[in-house]
Amino acid sequence: MPEFGDAKLKEWDSDVVAGREPLRPESGLLRGVTTDRPPRSAEARRAFEASDALTRLVVLPNAHDLQARAALLEKALATGDQRSVRVEGESILELLARTYEITTPRLRVLGTRPRKVWEGGQFELFGDYDFQEKRIRIWMRTAVLEKVTSYRGLLHTLLHEFCHHLDREGLGFLETPHTRGFHGRVDDLYHLALATPPKSRRPLVWIRMGSAWRIDWLKLRTSRSGDR
Ligand SMILES: [Zn+2]
Repeated sequence: MPEFGDAKLKEWDSDVVAGREPLRPESGLLRGVTTDRPPRSAEARRAFEASDALTRLVVLPNAHDLQARAALLEKALATGDQRSVRVEGESILELLARTYEITTPRLRVLGTRPRKVWEGGQFELFGDYDFQEKRIRIWMRTAVLEKVTSYRGLLHTLLHEFCHHLDREGLGFLETPHTRGFHGRVDDLYHLALATPPKSRRPLVWIRMGSAWRIDWLKLRTSRSGDR
């Protein structure tokens, strides 16, 4: 479950257990996706609902430029060099920040993912965003085997953390909650960066889980395989 502090958001992906990298990392990321529960106070709830309703980004970065920068990130990651990954990650953030006319968040690229172990399971930290520092941190090695993480997984984490920054700096969602809209906006940037053909892209399907939502992974997969 995502863990909220006053100034930090941490992303724990409950689906990726230590030492077992999912075969399709983007699926692994999606499968663990849930929304936060709506807040109690009326004001926070209004912002939450506005975030939930904004399922697409109206403005998008130049596709060609984003895809070129994403390709350089993939190359850098393949070398396993943290500094190169940071440089190419910063280049993506610079383009996004310019697109949305907001400040460029800082980026730290770290090595082995922190791991949390308790009775219920084991969780790895993929990335986080520090509100005060306006700083994104991403980890590029898996917790146990210390293998370089998948490109798609790293890209998704980077864009997810950027969307927290965009929420606060550009969209006016200061609490930057994980809503269906939030995940939809991340998905927009992710598929644009990967140049996913529009026909292959499926809308995120959500099912209720108490007062929150989670991705209906089965439905998403079924609609994908039904396309073949
Ligand atoms: Zn998050």
